[in-house]
Amino acid sequence: MKPKINAEECIGDGICEEICPEVFELRDDGLAYVIDEDPPENLNDKIEESVEECPTSAIIIEDAE
Ligand code: SF4
Repeated sequence: MKPKINAEECIGDGICEEICPEVFELRDDGLAYVIDEDPPENLNDKIEESVEECPTSAIIIEDAE
């Protein structure tokens, strides 16, 4: 499961980082970034939760196996 963030949609509320700080990081520029582009499978649930909770649907999963 390879998450990406559409920077044009991100409003920087940091919800994804709160849910899964192993993968998402909110930076000083007010945008969230993916810090682990190929995270281990045991984080899949948290990544999916981040996708669901992101208010602007900015998180995209490239391979939702
Ligand atoms: S939850 Fe969505 S809008 Fe909020 S910081 Fe993360 S990617 Fe950006």
